Amino acid sequence: MGNIVLLIKCPALPTKGQLSISEIPYVDTHSHLHYVLEKLPDTFNVTTYERLKQDHFPSNFESCINVLCDPLSFNSDEIFPNTYMDWKQMADTSFMYLAVGVHPHNSKDYNDYIENNMTQILNHPKCIALGEIGLDYHYDFSPRDIQKTVLVKQILKAVELGKPLVIHTREAEEDTWDILSGYVPKDWKIHVHCFTDSPQFAKKLLNYFPNLYIGITGVATYGSAKNTQNIIKDIVPLNRFLLETDAPYMVPAKLNRNKKSDSKITVCHSGMIPLIAERFAQLKGMELDEIMRQARENTRNMYGI
Ligand SMILES: [Zn+2]
Repeated sequence: MGNIVLLIKCPALPTKGQLSISEIPYVDTHSHLHYVLEKLPDTFNVTTYERLKQDHFPSNFESCINVLCDPLSFNSDEIFPNTYMDWKQMADTSFMYLAVGVHPHNSKDYNDYIENNMTQILNHPKCIALGEIGLDYHYDFSPRDIQKTVLVKQILKAVELGKPLVIHTREAEEDTWDILSGYVPKDWKIHVHCFTDSPQFAKKLLNYFPNLYIGITGVATYGSAKNTQNIIKDIVPLNRFLLETDAPYMVPAKLNRNKKSDSKITVCHSGMIPLIAERFAQLKGMELDEIMRQARENTRNMYGI
């Protein structure tokens, strides 16, 4: 009886078949797979990243960039040995790269201890970017002046270490513009992740920074995401976008549309990139495989992987 109740409450996951719509190899350029493992109930029996890949990702999945942006996850072995939060375990996973930076939500906690831990991860060869960092005026979980100070500090760190930037910006266009144009060298590699702000802002950033890429998530598949859809249709050139899931968030619409709560898919993972590419291709009026190929090339240009 207990088991039956548990099964009904389990979130579903798509089959590999539902995700195998292209054979072109791909990289998920922005994920938080440690939260995916945390969210999946024990009944899935997915306790390692290898198992998640093997059981749930289509065969053309190549790698992912796993983003650590909560300072708690910077601590590694002393505090979280052998847990999903242990970044060394992530770095040891063959198909996983890392990015690290303090999220604007957590900027109120920024201090030297956190910065030292962050730097330790940045010095690991598998850590290929600094972020996600930025400004979030939608939630305002940290005071705005602190968000701005911490963003500038981390940009200077990235420039000092020669690391590409992953930027999170939400409803903070003016301040994000002032800080990026004021502190980031013009030719720097920048991934503005999960872009949902105005098409005008996307255009301004793309025009000013020649190596800036617009990150597209499952949001592009939602009916309400007019900004993102207009950006794909009219603003972003084919050589300036990246595909990302931002897993476990933002399940593509095709999968979460099911009204029956017992089979509703609520956890996103890196296997779902082809569905984002499918929507992108539709909006651009192009073939899915062309978009997959272009995304792979853009990833190489942005991240060198
Ligand atoms: Zn993220």
